[in-house]
This record gives sequence, C-alpha cells and structure tokens, in this order.
Amino acid sequence: MFEADIFNKLLSRHRENRLSHAFLFETNDLNRCYSDILNFVKFINCPFEFKEECSREDCNLCSLIDNSNLPNLLKIDPDGTQIKKGQIQEIIEKFQTMPIFSKYNIYIINQCDKLNSSSANSLLKFLEEPEDNIIGFFITNSKMNVISTVRSRCQEYSIYYDKESKDYKYLDNIVEYLNSVYKNDNAILYNKNTALFFFEDRSTWIDFFKEMLYLFHSYLKGDKILEIKMFRDLSNDIIVKIVLLIETILKYLQSNGNIELILDKFVLEMRNIYA
Ligand SMILES: [Zn+2]
Repeated sequence: MFEADIFNKLLSRHRENRLSHAFLFETNDLNRCYSDILNFVKFINCPFEFKEECSREDCNLCSLIDNSNLPNLLKIDPDGTQIKKGQIQEIIEKFQTMPIFSKYNIYIINQCDKLNSSSANSLLKFLEEPEDNIIGFFITNSKMNVISTVRSRCQEYSIYYDKESKDYKYLDNIVEYLNSVYKNDNAILYNKNTALFFFEDRSTWIDFFKEMLYLFHSYLKGDKILEIKMFRDLSNDIIVKIVLLIETILKYLQSNGNIELILDKFVLEMRNIYA
C-alpha cells in the first residue's frame, strides 16, 4: 500500500496512540512521498476497514481525499519562490475548529525549505502547542535548507524512492543522449554517428522525447535526477526553456520531419538556450 516502508512503522505508532504531531520527510521524490502521505491520511481517518485500500466503495471520506476535496486536509505549495505567511495563516484560521469530516485536521507543506522566517514563525503555534487532532507533514528535497525553528520541532525521516521502479523505458538512452550533446562542440557529429542509430522508427523517437519531457517536468517538480549534467549546471529558468524546446521537437517528430534534422535542431537550439 505504501511505497516507502516508514509509513507502516508510523501506522503502528498510530495504533499505539504514539503518533507525533509533526513530521519532516526528506525525499528524492516529492510526488511519490505526497501520495504515500495521502494513503496514510486515509488510513488514519477512514471510518471503515482500511487495508490495502478502503474496503467501501461508497466511503465518503476516502473519495473526498482522492478528489482533493476534504476540507480539513490542506496542502501548501510554494507561491513563487516562497511559502508566504498568508498561506500559513489560512491554515491556522481553518484549523481553529475541531475537524468535522474526519478525525484529524491535517496540513501538508510541500517544499517546506521554501518557508521563510515569517511564515515559519506563524507555524510555531502548531508546532509548540500541538493539539491532539492536528497533524503536519513537511516534505523537502533538502532538510539542510529547512529553517531550523521548524526542523527542530519535527520528527525527521529520510525517504528514498527507487528510480528504477518508475516506468521509464528509455532512461539510460536519455541520460546518455543529454550528457553527450550538452556542451559538446561535436554534438552534430554525435547525432549523425551515434544517436541516429538509437532507434529505427519514428514512433520510438516520439516516445523517447515524451519520456524526456516527463523527466524534465518531474525534475522541475523537485524530483532530482543528478545523473543528468545539465540538471546540475542550469537554473530552473533555463530548464523551463528546454522543456518548451522539447515540446516543439515533439511536434516536428509528429509531423513527419526528417529525424536527423530534428535532432540537429534540438542540439543547436539547446545551445542557444544555455549559451
Ligand atoms: Zn474509506
């Protein structure tokens, strides 16, 4: 049911009534961690028997959670580059009252390293005088960057999700390709002599670039894939431009353009972007 085993441990704590009120998860995959948390939230709130999943199809609570409509489950994402004080105050206001639909009021702070000192200070009320019916989950890629006032008041766990279990079919090719053409003056030659022979048919090339697009999107959402050199070097603004380029390349591939010319276009345009 959970991808990360730690949640099973937390479940037994919950059964023993020893669950902490604030957790800090450092993870290499924010999205998968978030979905584990949602499962956990169902588990501790569902009024019916919950094993692998909810035992009742008509369970109102689980379906509210699935549709992100449970009023006392709040998720905060950074607003721009920061999590702002107003966003935290909203939670505090909503959680003045006891939970109505479920056992707990739950807040999830995604990328909690983006809390600044004023938004973090607003949270201290929850963290220092915890109420039994409020639980907070903080998720980050880097706990070193989480403000210490928050970090010191949470129970910390590191959660590593195995990349191989994700459905990438061409990950090795993508990593090799991107690293080979990035900052390589001979990238055109590499296209001609090597890359062109990766795949024979157009539809596989389309899948290859679709997967590349997905990889870039997950990177921007916080899923760090450090084998790819340009992810280590380039700022997110530049990565976003490359994402747009990949979308254009996909359009060319889908409209039957010559594959070699399209690959050349990709490396030339990319060079312009990061130059
Ligand atoms: Zn349920």
